Amino acid sequence: MEYDAIVIGAGLAGLVATAEIADSGKKVLLLDQESEANLGGQAWWSFRGLFLIDSPEQRRLGIKDSKELAWQDWLGTAGFDRENDEDLWARKWAEAYVDFATGEKRQWLHNMGVRFFPVVGWAERGGYIADGHGNSVPRFHIVWGTGPGIVAPFERRVREHIKNGFVDYRPRHRVDELLTNDGAITGVAGSLLEPSTAARGEDSSRTIIGDFEYHSQTVLVSSGGIGANFELIRKNWPSRLGQPPKDMISGVPAHVDGRMLSITENAGGRIVNRDRMWHYTEGIKNWNPIWSKHGIRILPGPSSIWLDATGQRFQAPNFPGFDTLGTLEAIQKTGL
Ligand SMILES: Cc1cc2nc3c(=O)[nH]c(=O)nc-3n(C[C@H](O)[C@H](O)[C@H](O)COP(=O)(O)OP(=O)(O)OC[C@H]3O[C@@H](n4cnc5c(N)ncnc54)[C@H](O)[C@@H]3O)c2cc1C
Repeated sequence: MEYDAIVIGAGLAGLVATAEIADSGKKVLLLDQESEANLGGQAWWSFRGLFLIDSPEQRRLGIKDSKELAWQDWLGTAGFDRENDEDLWARKWAEAYVDFATGEKRQWLHNMGVRFFPVVGWAERGGYIADGHGNSVPRFHIVWGTGPGIVAPFERRVREHIKNGFVDYRPRHRVDELLTNDGAITGVAGSLLEPSTAARGEDSSRTIIGDFEYHSQTVLVSSGGIGANFELIRKNWPSRLGQPPKDMISGVPAHVDGRMLSITENAGGRIVNRDRMWHYTEGIKNWNPIWSKHGIRILPGPSSIWLDATGQRFQAPNFPGFDTLGTLEAIQKTGL
């Protein structure tokens, strides 16, 4: 095998995985359909609130948090209720993540130079009953430097591994197929896209100038979500929210296309919870768009008034920052 591992996607998930695998002395191939200008993916554009539990920042503000409370909130928000074990791994992952966020996560990031804004935000606070949706306490720890501030240490680590020969990073390599043999994944095949001078986030060319095939026993798909693929969003729209809106805008660049999902499924991957999607309702069209249909979210001031399509104030707790899907449900009921 040419590589110990192949990582598809050089967003934050791909960078973290690549850095950690290469740290253990393994050789990694990191592929991304976009150019090097997009290294870090969506995370670079993000506000970068991080989920930490019972942190020094919370304690300094007098916020009493605990692993038990965070787990209760997680259960209330996730609503693990699917049949056929569809939630099995999501639940196991959630347990491990709550452990991580209570334990080593903050120190791990701190050791890489990540620092946090002293005021902890309160995103998705819910506002229903104690074991319902939302965070019972503020847990949104904002990284100094926001999105670029969280990408930087992982980019630094990956670049270090590129220099010492443990990581091969190949931008403009779009994976089109996961190769299999006897039911096991053996590698990837795809198209080499023409070089792009588009700036970070801008739509890039899809002209193919070649193809590739690489082999490894370990292939990690970290190709991001479906946010820019309105067709896929409409297809997987949750039934409880009625019809999908006629017009949508996108908080993510066009390359967040969800294309790898069906490619993974075709190779035997199990895709679950397709209809569990996240939408911010406080978005407006960016007056100076970087990508197609660029939408940005407005962070509400304390005195803002939010009205539905009929001019009525939203009912509590459907205010910005409380329960975005609950608000979406209310909007869907009053008109598009
Ligand atoms: C404006 C904004 C604000 C946000 N705020 C927060 C926040 O405060 N806190 C928080 O926790 N999260 C936040 N998020 C969400 C978070 O940033 C994303 O969930 C996260 O960055 C996704 O990382 P990823 O690596 O999984 O995917 P991505 O960043 O999408 O990376 C996936 C990569 O895979 C590549 N790829 C896809 N398909 C292929 C293919 N076939 N072949 C090769 N490459 C492929 C893509 O080009 C891309 O570079 C925010 C997101 C946005 C956009």
